[in-house]
Order: sequence, then structure tokens, then C-alpha cells
Amino acid sequence: MALTALDIYKLLPKTNCKKCGSPTCLAFAMRLLTKKASPEECPYISEEAKRVLAQAAEPPIRTITVGKEKKIELGGETVLFRHEKTFYHPTSIAIKLSDDLSPKEIEERIAQINSLYFERVGQRLEINMLALSNDSQNKEKFLNLVRKALESKIASFMLISHDSANLKEAISLTLPFRPIIYLKEGKNLEEILSLVKDKNLPFIVRGKDLEDTLKISEEAIEKNYKELILDATGSSLGETLQNLTILRRLAILKNFRPAGFPVVCFVENREKERAVLETGTYIAKYASIVVVDFIDREAHLALLTLRQNIFTDPQKPVTVEPKLYEIGTPHKDSPLLVTTNFSLTFYTVTPEIENSKVPSYLLVVDTEGMSVLTAWAAEKFTAESISKAMRESNVEKVVSHRRIIIPGYVAVLSGKLEEESGWQVIVGPKEASGIPKFLRQL
Ligand code: SF4
Repeated sequence: MALTALDIYKLLPKTNCKKCGSPTCLAFAMRLLTKKASPEECPYISEEAKRVLAQAAEPPIRTITVGKEKKIELGGETVLFRHEKTFYHPTSIAIKLSDDLSPKEIEERIAQINSLYFERVGQRLEINMLALSNDSQNKEKFLNLVRKALESKIASFMLISHDSANLKEAISLTLPFRPIIYLKEGKNLEEILSLVKDKNLPFIVRGKDLEDTLKISEEAIEKNYKELILDATGSSLGETLQNLTILRRLAILKNFRPAGFPVVCFVENREKERAVLETGTYIAKYASIVVVDFIDREAHLALLTLRQNIFTDPQKPVTVEPKLYEIGTPHKDSPLLVTTNFSLTFYTVTPEIENSKVPSYLLVVDTEGMSVLTAWAAEKFTAESISKAMRESNVEKVVSHRRIIIPGYVAVLSGKLEEESGWQVIVGPKEASGIPKFLRQL
């Protein structure tokens, strides 16, 4: 939990000597709280107080960056619930590839993974990581898997093995990608640190249970190593969810450092429906990485859409550029429609215009990302703002007619818009689904 001014005051010498430039120690505590002063300005502050203050200034969950071209940030969250502020770093979905697979199977899976991406509301949704697992315990098989994975379009890797010698060679192949290292089962901290420390690579911490995981994390912090990712996988969905919740609460509410790291969960050997349900649960609460072993377009579309929704800043709607869009190959007599720059509205309206097969112009007004009715209620989608957008887009030079189609929900704007623009206003359908029929009959 963040320190209060009183907590900080208790750490100060309380002599009110004024050498820091503040009239009292309490005033200095207030300046420290608002980051207008640094602890060094008090010549009498103890080393312990400095340590506590420095620790309190760190974010409650460390951000760890992995990958090469498309860098991925993990952790770095500051709240328990999205509506309190936002969640910053979307859960990475890693697909597990085992070196027990035949070379042909590996190639097929990589080809499937390479094409596993989607466009939604103007954003590209994709798989982020490959979890390469040395299940065979054979070094050559593992290195061949790593080499194949390096040819894929994915630029982030997790290397999993029971054998530190095998991991060492796999690390040398993938080092520029800053791989995540997972030395499995019963290995001591010294062994894993000897693999990762000089390269400062992140590694996965896994104890016998959550308490043990936290002990190992604490030990690593004492050894001044903080590139950690905690494995929260339990024996059931319930236990994993409980582990994830405990870790997030300890990190955010108690500022408990051993819990303040990104978290990974493994979803393996499940029926597809079960696996999708579990993965969705962990995306919602609070996994930084979920490792899955299924490759299925429908399932991944659902999961990536869920992720996109959860990790969209609730205070910043996704927007598209406000301008005049051409849909199909419109000409001077083509209809002109108007809508707002809320992404979801735009990407709902556009396909319906396309479905109509009537080439059209779509004027998108800057409503700060609000949908039609919300923008109208907030006075962002008004006769004035639409007229302004019409002028700025030079629509009178683009079409030869003087008719503009407004959404049915804002029919109330028609009179004022006709006055403002001098154009004839046609009230379109309320729902986007009505657009094809409306345009065809126009
Ligand atoms: Fe207090 Fe230190 Fe400032 Fe003196 S210099 S008033 S002890 S905070």
C-alpha cells in the first residue's frame, strides 16, 4: 500500500531543523509525498528510511519486457479492478510447442500460428509468444525446435526444460529475443541464477505451492535479482484463480514485494471448451501470460477479443481518424452518410455500407470516441460539429448533390443541420443493420 504523509513523517528525524528547506519535518514529508523533494535533501535521514521510501516509490508490480521487434511488456499493473484506472499490459497468449512433436507436426503448427491473427476495430489481434518445451529431454530435439521457432513470425519465446545445460544452449540461440527461462522441478535458485543472471533474463519462479513460490521470490530479491515471473498455476481452475487473486491483492493492497511480479498460468491437456473457459478466466483475472496448447481460430478469436476489451482503457474509447472515407468506389452522385469516430460504431457501419453494394462516402466526425447517442447527449455530435466536418472535408466538391444521411437516432438534428449546412438532411436507419436495405432503396 502507498505510504501516507504521516507514514513518511514517522521515518524522518522529527527535529524540525529546517536544513531541508522545509519549516518542519511534516512539511518535508508532504513534499516527499508529492514528489517535490527527494530524501537526500534531509542530511539526517537514515539509510533504512531511504530504503523504505525508495521501495514505496517503485510500482507495486514490476514491468518486465521481453521479445525483439514487437516488444512485450508484462506486469506493471497498478489496480485491482479495471474501472479504478485501467489495466496496462494485455495478457500474452503463448502457444506451447513440444519437442516431442515430429518435425512435420512442428512445421504445421508454426504455419497455423503464423496465420493466427485478426483485425478488429482497426487493431491487429495476435498470439504473442511461443513456449518451447523440452519434453523429450533430448538436447538436439530441443535445439531443433528452437531453430524452427526462430523462423516463425512470433518474436517472443519461453524456454522450458528440466535440464539447465539444454536451456543454456537454447538461450544462446534466442538471446536477442530476451527469452523467458523456465527450469522445471526441484532446481535450486543458485542453478537458475547461474543461467540467467549475467544476461539479466527473466525466469519463472515455481515452488511446491504458492507460499513456497513467494519464499523463492523473496530469496531472489534478497540476492538482488528482480527479473521474475511467478507461476500461479494450481491444480484446478479455482485454485489458480485464487492464487492469481492472492498475488494481485498482496502486490497492490499490501505492497508485498515478493508478489509484485508478472504472473504466468499454464492451461494444458484440457478439452478445448474447458481450456478456452480457463484461459478467459485468467485473462480477466490477472495473468500476465497464459500458456495454452491448442491452436483453434474460433477459440483464439474469442480469447483475443476478450483480451482487447479488458485491456482497453475505459476512459479512452478506441477511435478512428475523423475524415471522409470512401467505401467501394464512390462517384459524384454517391450517397454521403455521417457518423461518429467511435471505433466500434465505425466498424459496425462500414461493413453494412459494404453489404449494400452501394458505393458511398462516410463522413466521420470527431466526437472524442463517443458513439452516436452518447456524443449527441454530450453535445459532441451536433449540427455545428457535423457542418464543421463537412466544410473541413470539402464534401461540396466531392459530391454533386446536396444531401447528407444522418443516423436515425439523431433525427432531431435534421432541422438545425439543414439550417447550418444548407444541405438536405435525410434521416437514415437507427440501427446499422438497416443500412443495406435503406441504401438500396434510396
Ligand atoms: Fe526534518 Fe530532515 Fe528537514 Fe531537518 S532536514 S526539518 S530533520 S526533514
